[in-house]
Amino acid sequence: MLDIHWIRDHAAEVQAAAKKKRIEVSVEECLRKDDQRKELLREVEGMRKKRNEGSAEVAQLLQAGKTEEAERSKAELKQLNERIAGMSQKLDQVNSELERLMMLIPNVPSLDTPEGSSDADNIEVRRWGVQPEWSFDPLDHVDLGILHDMVDIPRGVKVGGSRSYYLKGMGLLLHRAVQQLALDLLLEHDFIPFDVPLMVREENMINTGFFPTGKDQAYAVQDESLWMVGTSEVPLVSYYGGEIVDVEKPIKLAGVSNCFRSEVGSAGRDVRGLYRVHQFAKVEMVVICKPDPASSEQLLQEITSHSEHLLQALDLPYRVMAVCAGDMSQKTYKQYDIETWMPSRANYGETHSASDLHSFQARRSNIRCRDEQGKLQYCYTLNNTAVASPRILIPLLENHQREDGSIYIPPALRKYLGGRAELIPQ
Ligand code: AMP
Repeated sequence: MLDIHWIRDHAAEVQAAAKKKRIEVSVEECLRKDDQRKELLREVEGMRKKRNEGSAEVAQLLQAGKTEEAERSKAELKQLNERIAGMSQKLDQVNSELERLMMLIPNVPSLDTPEGSSDADNIEVRRWGVQPEWSFDPLDHVDLGILHDMVDIPRGVKVGGSRSYYLKGMGLLLHRAVQQLALDLLLEHDFIPFDVPLMVREENMINTGFFPTGKDQAYAVQDESLWMVGTSEVPLVSYYGGEIVDVEKPIKLAGVSNCFRSEVGSAGRDVRGLYRVHQFAKVEMVVICKPDPASSEQLLQEITSHSEHLLQALDLPYRVMAVCAGDMSQKTYKQYDIETWMPSRANYGETHSASDLHSFQARRSNIRCRDEQGKLQYCYTLNNTAVASPRILIPLLENHQREDGSIYIPPALRKYLGGRAELIPQ
C-alpha cells in the first residue's frame, strides 16, 4: 500500500504504474473517495460536537426547571442523532470503498526499471557459465528422471491430478540436497532459518500484497478462513506484522517451506515435466530493513548475489534479468529474475526472483521502526528465492548429463549425497 498523501502528490505516476502493471484502478476515483471521507468525517465530528453541547444544554435546562425548553432541545437532539447515524453509515461505506481502491493501487516501479509489457521486455544484466555442447542427443529431465527412476509424473497425475509428480530415490535426495545447500549458504550470511505455517489467515495474504490481485493463484482451505501459502514470504513477513522492530541491522530470514499455487491462467503452458507444478519446495530469503532507498538497493544486490553463488556452486549457466514494469507484481518496486540454462527448452528459464518492495508491504503489514529522531516509520522489505525445487532439478539434471546417461554431481552437493560424484542409471 502507498501513502495516500504520496499518491495525491504523484497521481499521474501512480496511474501510469497501474497501466503498466495492468491493474484496473482509477487513482482519481481513489482521491475523490479520500476527499469524500475527509468531508464526511468533518461533518460527523461537527455534529457530534453539537450533540455533546446540546446534551449539556438539556442537563442545564432541566436543572433550571425549564422543562418545556429542555423537551424542545431533546427533540432536536434526537433528529441530530438520526442524522449522525445516517452520516456514519455513509462514512463506513466510503471508507470501505476507499480501502478497496487503496488495495488495488500498485507500487510505482523504480526509475531504472525497464519499460515493457511482458517478460520478453526484460533486460539481461549479466550472464555466467557456459552452455554445454554435446556430440550426442541429450535427454530432457523427464527422460533422465525415468532413466534414474527418480521422477514419476504419470503416477503423480494419477494421484494428485495435473501438474503433480513423485520424486523418489535420488530424486528426493537431490531435492533435499539443493535445499540444504541453499540454507547452508544463507546461514553463512547470518539468515535466521524458519519453518513456517503453511496455512495462514486471509489478512496475511492481504497484508503481504498477495491479495486481492493474486487471489486466484491461491488455494483456500475448505471454509476459506485459511489459505495455503504460495511462498514462505507470507508467513515470514507476517511474523512481524503489527510490530515495531529494530532494524539497526537488517533482519534476515530464511524460510524453508512447501509452496502451493493454482497456476490459474497457465493452462497449456509448460505442461511437460517439472517446470510448472502446483506444489513445490522453496528456500526463501526475506529481509526487513530501515526505510532507506540506498540500503535497500544494496540489499537487493546482496540477496541476488546469494542466488548467483548457489547457481555457481551447482555449476549451472545463468543470466540475471532486470524485470520490466509489465512483468512485475503489484507490490514490486524493483526486481531481478535469474534464469538458468535449460537445454530441453533451448533457453534460459526463470529459477529465482529477487524483489525490493520499499515500504509497500510493511505499510500494509504495519511493520515499523524508529528513525534517528525516534519517529516511527514503515520499514522496507525485500525477498528472493534461494532455491526452488523441483524446478532447479531441470537444469541440474539436463546440464550435467553425460552420454552414458550418468549425471555429474557438482562438488558443493556431494556432502549431502553421501559423497557421490555422479549418478549412474540403475
Ligand atoms: P516467485 O515466488 O513467484 O517469485 O517464484 C520463485 C521461484 O519459485 C520461481 O523462480 C521458480 O523457480 C519457482 N516457482 C514458482 N512457481 C512455480 C511453479 N508453479 N512450479 C514450479 N516452480 C515454481
